[in-house]
Amino acid sequence: MKPRIIISACLMGENCKYNGKNNIIDISQLKECFELIPVCPECFGGLPIPREPAEMKNGRVYQKNGNDVTDEFIYGAEQTLYIAEEKNCVAALLKENSPSCGYGNIYDGSFSGKLISGNGITAELLNSKGIAVFGESRINKLIELYSMC
Ligand code: SF4
Repeated sequence: MKPRIIISACLMGENCKYNGKNNIIDISQLKECFELIPVCPECFGGLPIPREPAEMKNGRVYQKNGNDVTDEFIYGAEQTLYIAEEKNCVAALLKENSPSCGYGNIYDGSFSGKLISGNGITAELLNSKGIAVFGESRINKLIELYSMC
């Protein structure tokens, strides 16, 4: 049986991004090595598609129009953690730089494309519960460490 991982649904081509588009990548090797469990924490949090873009600032999440959507992001993160634990996922491959899924770097809250060190709400929660998080630029490391490929 292949190990299971959580994956950001937008990386699999799901049109769940804030602008109704996706962030599709080549997942052919991942599919050979893992069972993929797609999630979209912002959708789980009840936010619509499309929606206003959001970024983190001082530990909270704000949409570009100023709405505070921290509660929605936290709820979506908790739903994602629940699925990851129910499915015994060994790790997560999450979209880089996102205020939900980003791990290591996130946008700085100015909506100018500038990155700062930090984790998105979901990435932080999964990591704090012992589920290793990888961005899409580290797929090879994820395969090396967590698959039998
Ligand atoms: Fe992709 Fe995560 Fe944003 Fe959903 S919340 S669109 S999975 S980056």
